Amino acid sequence: MTRPQRPTPRAVPEMSSALGILQTVFGFDAFHEPQAEIIDHVVGGGDALVLMPTGGGKSVCYQIPALLRPGTAVVVSPLIALMQDQVDALLELGLRAAFLNSSLDAATARDVTRQLLAGELDLLYVAPERLLMTSFLALLERLDAADGLALFAIDEAHCVSQWGHDFRPEYIQLSILHERFPRVPRIALTATADAVTRAEIVTKLGLEDARQFVSSFDRPNIRYRVVAKDNPRAQLKEFLAEHALEAGIVYCLSRRKVDETAAWLRSEGVDALAYHAGMDAAARRAHQSRFIREDGVVMVATIAFGMGIDKPDVRFVAHLDLPKSLEGYYQETGRAGRDGEPAEAWLAYGLADVVLLKSWIEKSDAPVEQKRVESIKLDAMLGYCEAARCRRVILLDYFGERSGACGNCDTCLEPPQTWDGSTAAQMLFSAALRTGQRFGAGQLIDILRGKETDKVHQYGHDTLPTFGVGSEHDDATWRGVVRQLVALGLLRPDPESYGALKLTDAARPVLRGETRLELRRAPPKRSKTAKRSRGRASGATADLVAPADADLFEALRAMRKGLAEAGGVPPYVIFHDATLREIARLKPGSEDELGQVSGIGVAKLARYGGAVLEVLREHL
Ligand code: ADP
Ligand code: ZN
Repeated sequence: MTRPQRPTPRAVPEMSSALGILQTVFGFDAFHEPQAEIIDHVVGGGDALVLMPTGGGKSVCYQIPALLRPGTAVVVSPLIALMQDQVDALLELGLRAAFLNSSLDAATARDVTRQLLAGELDLLYVAPERLLMTSFLALLERLDAADGLALFAIDEAHCVSQWGHDFRPEYIQLSILHERFPRVPRIALTATADAVTRAEIVTKLGLEDARQFVSSFDRPNIRYRVVAKDNPRAQLKEFLAEHALEAGIVYCLSRRKVDETAAWLRSEGVDALAYHAGMDAAARRAHQSRFIREDGVVMVATIAFGMGIDKPDVRFVAHLDLPKSLEGYYQETGRAGRDGEPAEAWLAYGLADVVLLKSWIEKSDAPVEQKRVESIKLDAMLGYCEAARCRRVILLDYFGERSGACGNCDTCLEPPQTWDGSTAAQMLFSAALRTGQRFGAGQLIDILRGKETDKVHQYGHDTLPTFGVGSEHDDATWRGVVRQLVALGLLRPDPESYGALKLTDAARPVLRGETRLELRRAPPKRSKTAKRSRGRASGATADLVAPADADLFEALRAMRKGLAEAGGVPPYVIFHDATLREIARLKPGSEDELGQVSGIGVAKLARYGGAVLEVLREHL
């Protein structure tokens, strides 16, 4: 690894204050709430627990204190595969950074250690297992004795949680940092919002005295949309057509479905790749790297993919299967739109998903209490899917945040009609009761609609008094009724008998006509005009460029691509789309003017200013 140099600042350097560093090094104008407060607290030696949504700007909360405090900041991260990119991004900013993990050869690792001891590093990223090695802890103690440790940052702190799917056993042992280095401030960071995980982080990492900084978890640029599964592939295809040539993630529940969906999308001409834990490590690495480094790759993945992927221009996250909880859903969808520009979270779900997930929970060997918690979480997820009110209000409410209707989700944009579904529910309950509660949604709907299928004849269901009483509603409406009754907890699919629908006690008042049931009507098929129209090849973010500047923007992107390939780094490490767009709009004529653009600090100006100005000259 080449040893990075601190840049020689051109303008009057202001490197002694947090704001000065934000402006000079990072090229940003002002802090976002509550970055400044967090930085002050940590620079002053305090411990902090930072809960901020993805894209909220957590990194500068430890990167700036790393520069303001004497010594090296040690950043613990579970994301070995991403450390190189993280460090590259810092080197691009002119900071002195390196990483230590099992991927380094012995000579390089020795060199990094030497730099660390010589005080030549602002930041050092380490994997937890490396940090916990006796020899490394001894080395840190030597550094500490010489005041050489600026702070410990514990990234992805929710990895201590044994309940979550990102659990890393080594994280629990990180409490050792507090015991061995009581003078060194610790800052733990996560984008996981729920209170249970937060409490677990505090106790497991010994952060009882840390100040907690909880940001709003709203992601206003993400548009939420839920569709009832009908023909999932056709629905996905239609959705992807609205995001042609944009990068995105399609989540599936099983590895097999990931492989099949990726293959199918490729056959449809989409640049899709698969990612799941069953693939060998080299293939996973290669796919992840293509997703990060190239424009417009669609990653079809299980939830094994995504943590720490800080690609800012992921334009959509699609779920082809129902997630198990709103926490998981929010974390996964949060990977879209980290750059703050319009992005979309799309979910297709159907009754079969509910039956499957419910049966998983009931059939698992988990303790009763855990099953109960999982079941409550799934119900909250269903409530979100079947909601007739603002999706964002429901999401934020789940994380303890009050908000008003957002205007940027499907229910806000196209408010669903509601109708009195009491009679329909009674019909369905009656059909279920008269068939011994032994049949699933398909058969009950056939009975109500009076369909003469083989299975209906086989069981003599065409002779039931309920046969044909519900013919006024079509199939989609009935399926919507069933899903909502399940979401409301009035019907329960029995996993022991292939999803046979059983009435719960909560169904009784409706059956007896004592309560009225307001149901959401299935939305009409989306009209062509309601869809976002897409202009040029580069999709949504290109739409934000004035038509007159479009060519210049594309030329800047091409220049960035060349620089990224030459430097072996992802394009966004050089400049974000937003920065290129601002350049295209402002058309700066000098280095000084270029330096005013958001996202251009002294190092980037020195390194790429010439190339940018040349593209500008050619285009004027
Ligand atoms: P997180 O780790 O919380 O997901 P990051 O630290 O990656 O978020 O920051 C998200 C994006 O916001 C990055 O592109 C970062 O450079 C940018 N950013 C962070 N702080 C600011 C700020 N004060 N002004 C402008 N952009 C910022
Ligand atoms: Zn809304």
